Amino acid sequence: VIEIRNLHKAYGSLEVIKGVDITAPKGCVVSLIGSSGSGKSTILRCCNLLEDSQQGDILFKGEPVKWHGTGHGRRPADPKQVLRIRTNLSMVFQQFNLWSHLTILQNVMEAPVTVLGRDRDEVEAKARHYLDKVGIGDKADAWPAQLSGGQQQRAAIARALCMEPEALLFDEPTSALDPELEQEVVRVIKALAEEGRTMLIVTHDMKMAADVSDHVVFLHQGLIEEQGAPDQLFGSPKSERLQGFLRSTT
Ligand code: ATP
Ligand code: MG
Repeated sequence: VIEIRNLHKAYGSLEVIKGVDITAPKGCVVSLIGSSGSGKSTILRCCNLLEDSQQGDILFKGEPVKWHGTGHGRRPADPKQVLRIRTNLSMVFQQFNLWSHLTILQNVMEAPVTVLGRDRDEVEAKARHYLDKVGIGDKADAWPAQLSGGQQQRAAIARALCMEPEALLFDEPTSALDPELEQEVVRVIKALAEEGRTMLIVTHDMKMAADVSDHVVFLHQGLIEEQGAPDQLFGSPKSERLQGFLRSTT
């Protein structure tokens, strides 16, 4: 579903992604791991075009992003394509970013109604369905501030699901949570993986990465240092940098 080829990205003269290829085929879960500053979030943001990149291709369902200009002047050329890609790659952030002035149900319904122009009643039924699915159906009429962190993050996942996207992008979905609340979010992500959803997950949680991923990518300073199936990557890492990284996270 998502493919990036030879991606390069710089902030001014600071090169942060230096030629990265990642493919998340339909139904697969790909996790990105690596130290702070290695470029994980930047890659996710480039995927859904929240961030410009200077070189390389980004393909969505085999369709390459059309660019206008080159290098630092490169921008997506087709606003309709950008909207199509963005609404099909729903992102879940570390800080759940729920709208505090809307109830949980209204948060989940907002984008399908306003961005996609879907029918309100149909969206409400779907929103309730996804809230049930993540285990907080009883919180539909609560305000975000009335929920625990784990419940808020699950509401953010329901909100992403309600867009019925082709793929989900997660940026450290559990890192703002206390360990006991983390597990309720991990369970939801596992269930989504078992359903065969396509997901690209940035995480510091190696146990979750090992449990849910089909493929794991270890980034170091904007380049892929090592990648492979979770058993191989976590069980017999080849690169010394990855070995050191794994020691530092356990
Ligand atoms: P973390 O684990 O801390 O979230 P990360 O792997 O997600 O790290 P990124 O956020 O992708 O790392 O950042 C990669 C590099 O790009 C870092 O060196 C960071 O300082 C730099 N960077 C990120 N955003 C910007 C920005 N808006 N302007 C300038 N530099 C940035
Ligand atoms: Mg990050």
